[in-house]
Amino acid sequence: MQWKKEKEELVKFAKKIYKKGFVSGLSGNLSLRVNEKAFLITPKAKYYEKLKNSDLVLVDLDGNIIEGEKEPSSEKKLHLAIYRERKDINAIIHAHSCFACILAALECPLPIILDEQREVLGGEVKVAKYAPSGSDELAHETVRCLGQGKAVILAKHGTVATGKSITEAYYVCELLERLSKIYLFMRLLQR
Ligand code: ZN
Repeated sequence: MQWKKEKEELVKFAKKIYKKGFVSGLSGNLSLRVNEKAFLITPKAKYYEKLKNSDLVLVDLDGNIIEGEKEPSSEKKLHLAIYRERKDINAIIHAHSCFACILAALECPLPIILDEQREVLGGEVKVAKYAPSGSDELAHETVRCLGQGKAVILAKHGTVATGKSITEAYYVCELLERLSKIYLFMRLLQR
């Protein structure tokens, strides 16, 4: 089986974000670039606990399915647009984590509040303006807001975390959730 190691890694992190509560039910999706022409992505309507290597879909940078029996995630366009624009990004996690989703619902960006944000997230996290899930507009707006950063909050929807590796994308996703929580408590205590 080709890309066995990469598939195992993607499945491992998919289960990890589910266990951590960064996604629920069928929501969210993950992808991992395997070379300059293609990436692996989680399928549409997957159950995280049952996800296996053979469920993953290999997609090229024109959006064609190269391998896989399932339909790719409905957010395929968003992943595709990021990989096309940013050659330095090799992994993307789209999550619906609770505290970051409060910021998403409020359409509130995350300003720099702690030093580690600068290092891990690359600074302030912007909010991509609302566009329907799976649309070209959402993909375009996400790339625009991401710029040279590592994460974006999607208005009324969720988050996008990126990295050179799936491990880095996971740390970005995790820290974005943690800092969103801290920021919300900060706002509650500020008079
Ligand atoms: Zn979503």
